[in-house]
Amino acid sequence: MRAVDIIIKKRDHQELTNEEIEWFIRGFTKGEIPDYQVAAWAMAVLLNGMSERETTALTMAMATSGELLDLSGVVPYAVDKHSTGGVGDKTTLVVAPLVASCGLAVGKMSGRGLGFSGGTLDKLESIPGYKAELSTEEFLSQLSKIGIVVCGQSKDLAPADGKLYALRDVTGTVQSIPLIASSIMSKKIAAGAQAIVLDVKVGFGAFMKNLADARYLGKLMVAIARQTNRKAVAYLSDMNQPLGKAVGNAIELKEAIQTLHMEGPQDFQEHCLEIASRMLMLGKIAITHKDAYQIAQTHLESGKAWNKFEEWISYQGGDIRTIHQPDLLPIAEKEIKILARQSGFIHQIHAEKVGLATVYLGAGRQKKGDPIDYGVGVLVHKKVGETVHEKEVIFTVYARPNSEMETITALLNDAVIIKENPVEAYPLFYEVIE
Ligand code: URA
Repeated sequence: MRAVDIIIKKRDHQELTNEEIEWFIRGFTKGEIPDYQVAAWAMAVLLNGMSERETTALTMAMATSGELLDLSGVVPYAVDKHSTGGVGDKTTLVVAPLVASCGLAVGKMSGRGLGFSGGTLDKLESIPGYKAELSTEEFLSQLSKIGIVVCGQSKDLAPADGKLYALRDVTGTVQSIPLIASSIMSKKIAAGAQAIVLDVKVGFGAFMKNLADARYLGKLMVAIARQTNRKAVAYLSDMNQPLGKAVGNAIELKEAIQTLHMEGPQDFQEHCLEIASRMLMLGKIAITHKDAYQIAQTHLESGKAWNKFEEWISYQGGDIRTIHQPDLLPIAEKEIKILARQSGFIHQIHAEKVGLATVYLGAGRQKKGDPIDYGVGVLVHKKVGETVHEKEVIFTVYARPNSEMETITALLNDAVIIKENPVEAYPLFYEVIE
């Protein structure tokens, strides 16, 4: 086979065979096919697409390009969750201990934030001492001992995806939906998931800006799961406005702690209960949605989910005092209120603009590897559909003395649209794809 023939075939709208895809990805992983040929191929895929079969073949080629974790000796059935990323999305911090407290082990490899989208590991690392990088042995041992572990992704898992993602990032080919689907699913499969709840975010603060693209991505990932003998359910969930109130790192962790005490924002709690219920159904802890939801709710209300959270954080080296007294977590010294400029109904709290404001504050990264500030962030006090009075607080900003407040304030003011006429609140979920 020749790489150039594979590029030409894709350029000419032809379907690649599984063998061609497998050969191409193997060659790329080993460094035998140069970046410029893979970049040309990725652009052909972006422009001409891939069939479900091709996307599944690409997923498996990337999943098997490195270590394939086998969790069968550790947990009876491995259920994972994955969010495509958004603003204020701290769901894993609540759902992982909640599900684990119901008797379904959760071994999860999470990512860091990039651009305006936050990352679970950064939020967890705002706890002093939390050890996010674990070896495979440590991951498996913790999972079997306490039934919960959340760490960074091992470099040995799906290395082809890591290489391809880096190339896509600099060649304008990140947006291809088949490439996104295979990238996400290859990592989940390599990490040993037998069933996955996919939280596909849609809206201003998400990768997928419209419902049609989100639906295509959700359906494609569910199809890949089916074709590889795994199960997946995809939720299409709103990311036009931030999820919950807190956007940042320590500030989001605090909100997760409040939610584990049933004191968090209603939308976020509801979101977590729904995702947790679906994981419980996939893990056969409950058959019906009603039963699953009830189990999840009881474990949240009774404090069992909180107890699991404590056990998990302590096992992974986190300073337990900070989760008992969240005031000990990092917090920036300046507190600035941003007020409504008029009375009316909230029509928009633009998630991407709020996310970007937190990046300017220092909570996120402009590029991979940048240091971040755990103590800065934004609290969003209003949701779309709510009423607001002139001069009422819409955002509280936690900033450093040298923060670029002019840019940040402009972004936040720009994020808000208030009008005189009422408007419907956004739904939490648009669709569920099973
Ligand atoms: N997240 C991933 O893991 N991969 C993509 O390609 C896009 C988002």
